[in-house]
Amino acid sequence: MTHSRRTFLQATVSTAATILTQPLLGSAQQSTGFTLPKLPYAVDALEPYIDAKTMEIHHGRHHQAYVDNLNAALKNHPEWLAKPVDDVIRNLTKLPETIREAVRNNGGGHANHSLFWTVMKKDGGQPTGELLKAIETAFGTFEGFQKVFTDAAMKRFGSGWAWLVIGGEKGLSVVSTPNQDTPIMDGKPAPLLGIDVWEHAYYLKYQNKRADYIKAWWNVVNWDTVAANFAAAKRG
Ligand code: MN
Repeated sequence: MTHSRRTFLQATVSTAATILTQPLLGSAQQSTGFTLPKLPYAVDALEPYIDAKTMEIHHGRHHQAYVDNLNAALKNHPEWLAKPVDDVIRNLTKLPETIREAVRNNGGGHANHSLFWTVMKKDGGQPTGELLKAIETAFGTFEGFQKVFTDAAMKRFGSGWAWLVIGGEKGLSVVSTPNQDTPIMDGKPAPLLGIDVWEHAYYLKYQNKRADYIKAWWNVVNWDTVAANFAAAKRG
């Protein structure tokens, strides 16, 4: 075999090995860390309920900051940078204490906002099918569910989230968490639906009127995504 032929073969094997290992490394996160997901709609798509300026700042600055701070906290821990964020925040106690708080806040922020963008869309509509049945079993009616969820979101003192989760005696339940915490941190499945009640989510348009923001938000809930999350959670 000539030298150039051998070099060619080595190069071919090396390229093939690279291609074969790529799917095993995951898509977005290798050594570069976590990245801001694109909004699945234009920044003004949720007008008039959620204004474009709020979406732009909320996604482009607040969520970006959680991503950047999470990457900074984990910069010396490439094994964690390579995992899905839900796996990272499900295992906070395995992280060094020196970075645990930063990963809790910013990893939670990244996970929560990544879900939040997907559970909204223009012309949200109402739940149907299996999801509606499960909501009626747990809360009596859709309106009954909206009341329980709104109450949880209103009663969250300071900053945090209200969630629709799988679990509880009647199959589905509503919970609330402070700050950027999520039920995932307690080893629970990812929430099906969540609302951000940090002031940064509504202050530009609604100022201190959280109730008005929540009432408007019901118009942009993406029930197709929530139903898909429900189906995935039931599969386990
Ligand atoms: Mn937020």
